Amino acid sequence: MKIQEADAKTLLLAQGLPVPPWEVARTVADTRAAADRFFAAGNEMVVIKAQVLVGGRGKAGGVKLARSAAEAEAVAGAILGMSIKGITVRKVLVAPAADIVREFYLSAVLDRSARRILLMASAEGGVEIEQVAVDHPEAIVTLHADPALGLMDWQARALAFRLGLGAHLRQAVGIAKGVVRTMLANDADLVEINPLAIVRERAADGSTVERLAALDAKVTIDDSALARHPELEAMRDLDEEDPTDLEARAAGISFIKLDGTIGCMVNGAGLAMTTMDLVKRAGGEPANFLDIGGGARADKVAAATRLILADPNVRAILVNIFGGITRGDEVARGLIEARSVQERSVPMVVRIVGTNAEEAQRLLRAANFQTAVSLDEAARKAVAAAGSAGAAA
Ligand code: GDP
Ligand code: MN
Repeated sequence: MKIQEADAKTLLLAQGLPVPPWEVARTVADTRAAADRFFAAGNEMVVIKAQVLVGGRGKAGGVKLARSAAEAEAVAGAILGMSIKGITVRKVLVAPAADIVREFYLSAVLDRSARRILLMASAEGGVEIEQVAVDHPEAIVTLHADPALGLMDWQARALAFRLGLGAHLRQAVGIAKGVVRTMLANDADLVEINPLAIVRERAADGSTVERLAALDAKVTIDDSALARHPELEAMRDLDEEDPTDLEARAAGISFIKLDGTIGCMVNGAGLAMTTMDLVKRAGGEPANFLDIGGGARADKVAAATRLILADPNVRAILVNIFGGITRGDEVARGLIEARSVQERSVPMVVRIVGTNAEEAQRLLRAANFQTAVSLDEAARKAVAAAGSAGAAA
C-alpha cells in the first residue's frame, strides 16, 4: 500500500526523524489559511506540494514556493485539480519552505535475495535515484541492516562519512537508524527520503545554523503485513484507489487486472496461474488474475463476475473451479444469478470439477451455459468464443 507524503512524514516523525511541520489542505481557501499560519509564525516562504501517489511532482509543476498569502492562493489554484501522471490532485501539503544548502538521497528497501534491509544513500539527492544509478553508480552507497539488530551505530557512522556528512554525524546517524526502524515498525517495503537536505536556519540570536531535515517522504507498506497494522488502514488513500481494487478487497477476492481479453474466474492462486498459462497456450491473452478463494459462495461469484465485466476489453469469461471446500453447484447458481443481472452479454465457458460437479453441470446446461470437461478444452473454447465475440463487436 502506497501512502501520501504527509502520512509517510507522520511515520518518520514517530521514529524521531527531523521533519519540518506541515498541514494538508483540500481547497484554495484552506491552503491560504495554512500558509497564513506559517507566515504568522515567522516564516518568509512556504512550499506547496501536490499530494499524489506518484514521484516526480516537482518536475511536473506540483511543487511550488509562495512568499505571501495571495501567492499561496494562486499556487494552490494552479496545483489543486491539475493532473500529474494521470492522477488529479485533490490535496496539497503546505510547509515552511526550507533554505536548502545541499540535497541527499536516503532510502531503505527490502532486499529479498539477501533477506536484509538494504540502505541506499547518495550525495546526489533531489534528482531521481534511477538516473544517478545510470550516470554515476559509484555515487550510491549501499549497506545491509541486520533484521534482528537493525542498523548498528558503526554502520550508520560509516554511511554518514561516505556521504560527506561528517559535520552532521550525530543527526545523520539518528536519521539512518530511524529509517530502518520505520521499516521494521511498519513492515514497510520502502522508506525513501529524497531530498534529505542540509537546510540553513536562523537561530534566535540571529546567527545561522545548518542541520538535516527530511523534506520529502515516501513509504510503502507490505500489503501482506497490513493485518498486523490496523492503525495504518486510515492512511489508505481512497481518492487514489482503483474502484475495482476496492470492490475486490471488499469481496475478499484476489484480483489483478491484465491487458488481455479472456476474463478468468478461478479458485486457488496456483490453479489461476495454470489457467492463465493454458489460455496463452490456446492462443489467447488473460484479462486478469482472479482467485475467488476457497468455499466461495454465490454472492462472491457474482462479485467476481462484476469485477471481470468492469473491464471493457473482456470478450469471453473462462470459469475454472476445482470443487473441494467450494461446492460446484453453489458456483453454478452464482453464475446463473450473475448472468441474469449482468449488463453486458459476454460468452462464458465453465469447467467445474470436484464436489457436486454433476449437479453443477445439470444446472449450467439447463441455463444454456457452454461447459467443458478438461481445462485444455475450456481454454480452447474460451479463446474461440472471444475471437468470434471480438469479430462481432
Ligand atoms: P518530488 O518531485 O515528487 O520528489 O517532490 P519533492 O518534495 O522531492 O520536491 C522536489 C524538489 O523541490 C526538491 O528536490 C527540492 O529541490 C524542491 N523543494 C521541495 N521542498 C522545498 C523547500 O522547502 N524549499 C525549497 N527551496 N525547495 C524545495
Ligand atoms: Mn522527492
